Amino acid sequence: MKVGIMGGTFDPIHMGHLLAAEAVKDVYKLDEVWFMPSHLPPHKQAAGATGEQRLDMTKLATRGYEDYSTLDIEVARGGVSYTIDTIRLLLKEHPNTDFYFIIGADMVNYLPKWERIDELAQLITFIGVGRPGFDLHLDDLPEFLQERVLHAEMPLVDISSTAIRRRLGNGKSVRFMVPDSVLQFIKRSGLYESKPR
Ligand code: NAP
Repeated sequence: MKVGIMGGTFDPIHMGHLLAAEAVKDVYKLDEVWFMPSHLPPHKQAAGATGEQRLDMTKLATRGYEDYSTLDIEVARGGVSYTIDTIRLLLKEHPNTDFYFIIGADMVNYLPKWERIDELAQLITFIGVGRPGFDLHLDDLPEFLQERVLHAEMPLVDISSTAIRRRLGNGKSVRFMVPDSVLQFIKRSGLYESKPR
């Protein structure tokens, strides 16, 4: 089985994430995509919602699609979310699955900085997903990584979590930028209501 792991902060999850996942799934003929909110990403602080809330929103967004699901591994584990720890665990539970780790194309060049990247690159394939015309600069990567990174294009949609938080802070609509169920969750919990700094 071929499974895409969609790792990220998802603060909040939005249609751009879902479109990116579907584009990758389509191009590389993945059987399923599993969304996986990180607890604390290794390189920064989460901005707004708690891990539990980000997990709840991701579950709402993937609910009802049999080829999509949400993993709670990293939020449940707590601490800093190193992808290598997570992938080792997933491979133990699913030894016959090929995992593809989906990240934003503009993050590909940071891969050499990831924890135990040499080991991680032996275990999974990375897919950098970006807008049409975005070139992956694979030449800048060490050789062992170049052959482990694929590229996929996604439809051009200018939606980001940052823009959504900003709009909500300014009282603007984000309807149709996030799934309805996620919007209802955000409204119910009063998330992102304070003015952005
Ligand atoms: P992020 O901060 O949530 O996202 C970075 C950028 O990529 C944002 O523009 C984001 O858009 C977009 N994006 C988020 N998830 C995406 C996805 N799966 N596919 C395409 N675009 C995506 O995420 P991140 O911090 O780059 O981390 C991504 C994953 O890599 C996480 O699972 C993280 O734990 C892992 N990671 C691991 C290490 C390590 O092990 N040392 C280091 C870095 C990252 P929005 O802002 O609109 O979401």
